[in-house]
Amino acid sequence: MTTEKLPAAITKPLLDWYRANARVLPWRDITDPYRIWVSEIMLQQTRVAAVLGYYARFLEAFPTVEALAAADEEQLMKRWEGLGYYSRARNLQKAAKIVVERGGFPDTYEGLLELPGIGDYTASAIAAAAFGRREAAVDGNVLRVVTRLTDCHEDILDAKVKKAIRAQLQEIMPKEDADIRIFPQATMELGATVCVPNGAPKCDICPVRERCLARKRGTADVLPVKKAKKARKIEEMTVFVLLRGGETALHKRGKAGLLAGLWEFPNVAGALSEAEAGAALETLELQPKVWRSRLTAKHIFTHVEWHMTGYVIEISGSGGADWDWVDAEGLVARAVPSAFARYYEAAAEELKQERIP
Ligand code: SF4
Repeated sequence: MTTEKLPAAITKPLLDWYRANARVLPWRDITDPYRIWVSEIMLQQTRVAAVLGYYARFLEAFPTVEALAAADEEQLMKRWEGLGYYSRARNLQKAAKIVVERGGFPDTYEGLLELPGIGDYTASAIAAAAFGRREAAVDGNVLRVVTRLTDCHEDILDAKVKKAIRAQLQEIMPKEDADIRIFPQATMELGATVCVPNGAPKCDICPVRERCLARKRGTADVLPVKKAKKARKIEEMTVFVLLRGGETALHKRGKAGLLAGLWEFPNVAGALSEAEAGAALETLELQPKVWRSRLTAKHIFTHVEWHMTGYVIEISGSGGADWDWVDAEGLVARAVPSAFARYYEAAAEELKQERIP
């Protein structure tokens, strides 16, 4: 663990710098826990520029925590479509229901942590920004800033290191309400715009450069230290875009696991050749008539990669008992995750053609 202490003297220049330089974003300068919470969840795996449009549309559809709690699941997924990591949307709604039931948001770090989908970082960020609690929020940006300031070469993926960094930040958190509310944002903003992750940090414009050990010792470019992650598991699969009388088949995924409850094109494990794919369809009482195209695609999740071989086929026959056959409008109305984007586009194009007399 780093033996260097995070200097308390950085707090004031950091806050002054933030007030003068922070990007104007719709979830800043507000204290509404609902709006702050939605932004934090969206920002967990998605860049700021990509979140902006989704954030505005989401709040237009669900302007209050009550509206989100009462939302139709299909409509909710549709609003989240494209953001990925759909469990975030599901957890948002679960948490919204709890908040409505208990008559308001918990206003402490511990209380917030009990809500589904809210971890250490998000609980701290909401507790500070919405309720003025002295809670330090630690995300990737903050870890980079702190390890550089203290010249810490420990592995930031180690939970113990993260905990120690949080404790250090906790000690130098400001005491005034208005300062507490922006301190976590200020440390993150420094990491996002000055002490950047890719390329050289912009030390010449950094408000805390005089206190930075990595700058003095020339170690910023090797910090933070992250041990190599385990390789992702590769899953091969064959995806069917089946066309029958102006409709295509969709299947709803199970209630648990990856992309739970979302719609997918029927698929089977393994990268099947055309002959093998034909045999697989026969078992579902489907007879291939015209093989239109073969489309390959890859989708990367956090721990798994899907390597997909897809076939667009005109067929006759019945297919799976739990499939839904949908026309062009039906396809648009279903939340199909972006993992299937290539097949979704192919299906949409084929169904559109069907409607042209
Ligand atoms: Fe990062 Fe440079 Fe600022 Fe240190 S001086 S915190 S390395 S930008």
